Amino acid sequence: MRKNLQLLEELQRIDLKIDELRQEKEGMLAEVAALELEEEGARRLVAEKKGELEALEAEKLALETNLATEADNIVRSETRQKELKTQKEFQAVAKEVSTARKLKTELEEQILQKLGLAEALTAEIDGMETNLQALSDNLASRKGGVQARIDQMEAAIAADQATREATAKGIPASALKRYTMLREKRQGIAVVEARDGYCLGCNMHLPPQLYNSLYKVTELVNCPHCQRVLFLRIVQGDK
Ligand SMILES: [Zn+2]
Repeated sequence: MRKNLQLLEELQRIDLKIDELRQEKEGMLAEVAALELEEEGARRLVAEKKGELEALEAEKLALETNLATEADNIVRSETRQKELKTQKEFQAVAKEVSTARKLKTELEEQILQKLGLAEALTAEIDGMETNLQALSDNLASRKGGVQARIDQMEAAIAADQATREATAKGIPASALKRYTMLREKRQGIAVVEARDGYCLGCNMHLPPQLYNSLYKVTELVNCPHCQRVLFLRIVQGDK
């Protein structure tokens, strides 16, 4: 029975090591996933802003086309003015020219405004792209490091699993089943030390008779409070 208890203890030591490696791996994967999400968000924002800039450029182009048309109109009207015979006709065309000039000035104002907006937006996009590049570089280097560490951990887990299988073989099926169930229900700790009359798993006081029975190890003894399997740390010289 002492052998069984020792094997259970050993099994738990290996299982806790595997748990820890798996947790570390999960943590690293979560960290990379968070970085990926951040990079993706930054990339989407850049794409959105570029879309805005394109729309702005298209609006500016349309204004410039209108401006060119108005300029043509003015030239044409002014040419016509020279051929006109009556004062009335001349005044009508002069009015046309004046209206076209006003419109031209307005269009120039609007184009200038769009230019200013496009400039600001371009600067904003430049800043965002620099930020995105930094995020991508950081992600790539972090991914490389994480992959190397995960490869190491996978190898360690595989080795521990093999040791675990070998250790589990020496434990009776019923004890193994109890151990597995307890580990699921008790945060991974199924086997726990008892010391000075207390269970170190739940820190509850153990009945003296039960505590004393741990010295002999004739059977697996459970803590009456947390049900974990109890053992005493045997000091050198004890049997
Ligand atoms: Zn307990």
